[in-house]
Amino acid sequence: MNISEKKLIIAIDGHSSCGKSTVAKDLAKKINYIYIDSGAMYRVITLFAMRNNLVKNEKVDENKLSHLIDQVSISFKYNDRKQGHETYLNNALVEDEIRSLEVSDNVSLIAKIRFVREKMVAFQRELSKDGGVIMDGRDIGTVVFPDADLKIFMTADVEVRAIRRYKELKDKGDTVSLEEIRENVKKRDYIDENRDESPLRKAEDAIVLNNSKLSKEEQLDWIIAKMNEVVK
Ligand code: C5P
Repeated sequence: MNISEKKLIIAIDGHSSCGKSTVAKDLAKKINYIYIDSGAMYRVITLFAMRNNLVKNEKVDENKLSHLIDQVSISFKYNDRKQGHETYLNNALVEDEIRSLEVSDNVSLIAKIRFVREKMVAFQRELSKDGGVIMDGRDIGTVVFPDADLKIFMTADVEVRAIRRYKELKDKGDTVSLEEIRENVKKRDYIDENRDESPLRKAEDAIVLNNSKLSKEEQLDWIIAKMNEVVK
């Protein structure tokens, strides 16, 4: 059986802005798997909390959020023109908004809340129940799918990551500085790695992929080779 027929679960974790989602998306397309962006889910909750004035001075009103969170419905719909999925909050398109620096600045505060994580993990498992899934995030190999068929831990030098994200946001017309992005990337890594709830860790059985000097194609080939070893 080949990797497309085998419907494996592939977990990709790693640091912020190291290109996990780009590789995961391209890979899913190539081998006909579903791509699930778990970070987008935490970003949607963050946007919702910000819209409801629940985030102030780096503090989240967890009590109010716990009462309102059931009003949040997250969905992903395919956009033919963009040839990819886009994220929706209560049926309204929020794909660009959730990628803004404002949301990026607050998302790690939301992602460390236990009830938020429990809800997101349940949703992630539900979406993956038929297998054939590539999911990227911070706790996929450690918490969401501890028995994933293949676990990859991706990372790259901070400067390489900041420059990549800077180019991405600039292309979209955002007027952010490289300095701001570098600080955001470092801050998110710090909070993600040091939180009590599901901190960002390399699972013991994950394989490290440092992509600082690798092209997208080289990364895809690398992962496909690892998947082929799994189904051998
Ligand atoms: O992957 P992305 O950078 O979009 O994730 C945004 C944020 O969501 C991360 O910085 C992290 O705080 C949180 N996250 C998480 N667990 C995941 C995915 C994302 O805590 N599985």
